[in-house]
Amino acid sequence: MKNIADLIFPDVKLTPEDLEKKYPKRDLKDGACVTRFAPSPTGFIHLGNLWSTLIGERLAHLSGGVFYIRLEDTDQKREIEGATRGIFNFLKNFDLNIDEGFQQGGEVGNYGPYIQSERMEIYRVYAKKLVSEGKAYPCFCSPEELDKIRENQAAVKENTGYYGKWAKCRDLSFEEIKNKIDNGESYIIRFKSFGDENKRIAVNDLIKGLLDPPENIRDELVLKSDGLPTYHFAHVVDDYLMRTTHVVRGEEYLSTLPVHVQMFEALGWQSPHYMQHAHLLKRDGESKRKLSKRKDPELALDYYGKTGYIPQCLKEYIMTLLNSNYEEWRLANPHEDLNNFDFTVEKLSPSGALFDLNKLNDISKNYISLLSSDEIYNYVKNWAEIYDEDFYKILEENQKYAKDILSIGRGGEKPRKDITFIREVKNYMSFFYEELFEPDYKMPEVFEKKPEITEDIIKKIAEDYINIYDSNDDSTAWFDKIKTLAGKYNFASDMKLYRKNPQDYKGSVADVSMILRIAVCGRQNSPDMYDVFKIMGKERIMKRLERFIFRNE
Ligand code: GLU
Repeated sequence: MKNIADLIFPDVKLTPEDLEKKYPKRDLKDGACVTRFAPSPTGFIHLGNLWSTLIGERLAHLSGGVFYIRLEDTDQKREIEGATRGIFNFLKNFDLNIDEGFQQGGEVGNYGPYIQSERMEIYRVYAKKLVSEGKAYPCFCSPEELDKIRENQAAVKENTGYYGKWAKCRDLSFEEIKNKIDNGESYIIRFKSFGDENKRIAVNDLIKGLLDPPENIRDELVLKSDGLPTYHFAHVVDDYLMRTTHVVRGEEYLSTLPVHVQMFEALGWQSPHYMQHAHLLKRDGESKRKLSKRKDPELALDYYGKTGYIPQCLKEYIMTLLNSNYEEWRLANPHEDLNNFDFTVEKLSPSGALFDLNKLNDISKNYISLLSSDEIYNYVKNWAEIYDEDFYKILEENQKYAKDILSIGRGGEKPRKDITFIREVKNYMSFFYEELFEPDYKMPEVFEKKPEITEDIIKKIAEDYINIYDSNDDSTAWFDKIKTLAGKYNFASDMKLYRKNPQDYKGSVADVSMILRIAVCGRQNSPDMYDVFKIMGKERIMKRLERFIFRNE
């Protein structure tokens, strides 16, 4: 077979021994894990990537090992623009510690290149080795011929695929191969499977447990007609040469695991430990189903960026799903770095976890409520810089005003939990800004049951308030004035009295406050009014009251 190998790979001068020397075993302590993130630039980064990456990163770093990144770009037809940028953003946003590999601005590490399309020379060394040992061969079958084989197989009810007696090119002689190549026929390189469909392999997956699928019998591709390797072959070569100890990936690879195991064996290598996790599930009515690219926007990590979830919260939530004792640990250690948690592989569940946005929202609300106004200001500004240019300008223009607004209800024993994600903040803050102010002057529904609160009374309350508001009042004096105003128009200033005899009053002081809130803020809900008014300042409040009074003119 050596003559066939030399015929196909005349240019390959490097040997497997050269590569063994170039990429020696890593000098790490016993038990150190080498894991990798191996994205393909063919799609968007999704929750499954975060899931695998967190497991891989924790495993490597808790064991004193290495976590590296390798770009798997051999499917160039399916490549999408911006995918690589998405990968870098993902790593940066989620603060995932990469030790080596393909990085923005160059590669880091001694096991590169870390981009598969730059490793062609390496794949050809091993493809040549397989051919010279009779473990791979050139296949000249055209797509039409392959269709024909499939049809014939179907006609006699045999499994489809290129294998065994159906594999026409398996036993071509050197002369036949040479003739075809001389004739310019195009070919691919196929692996010559030595599997027996009646036998099973045994793999101890560290997440799924013992797996024993049937052996692979198909002659899968090693190199495609464009010369690029398949995922099967490339990742086997790379995981070996980069000295990967644990392959963490989604369960979509379970079906081709027998191919991978066979390729490792054919190359004389021990396969790494596998950790193939189930897909995330979502509740759909009564049942659960896999999160789907098509139906569920929340599968893409982009969704969280746009919505303004803080990556740390998503990480926190995923940790609670990965290790069931994480939540308890977090409660006991609210300020501890997530990396100090004793993450364990044993606790990873073999079946799919339920991804519940409501739980993420709870974590997020809580997290945001504990931020200082400076911190939340920075999150909002950074978010707006990407997603809302006008809002960004507003935030930049008067930083103190923005931070004062964001400081309302923060820092105390019981901080407000009214922001779930950063996208909400614009609406939360908008009434403070003339350029964003879109008042809704509708009075609350309960007013319909209080016919004495007429348009005229509402107007008078707003007019009076212009004369009594004093920005120097403390909160008690401020509220006393509202009470006095209430008394003047026969609204009960004491809620208890009001509840006892509501018929004696037009309404209560709460109604007067509501009128003023709507007049100034243009909405029925706002954070603490005293704080809001103080931050807005007298001039703004006066303008708002006037606008309200003359709203119909
Ligand atoms: N390039 C593969 C993907 O993006 C990686 C699978 C693996 O981790 O081996 O799905």
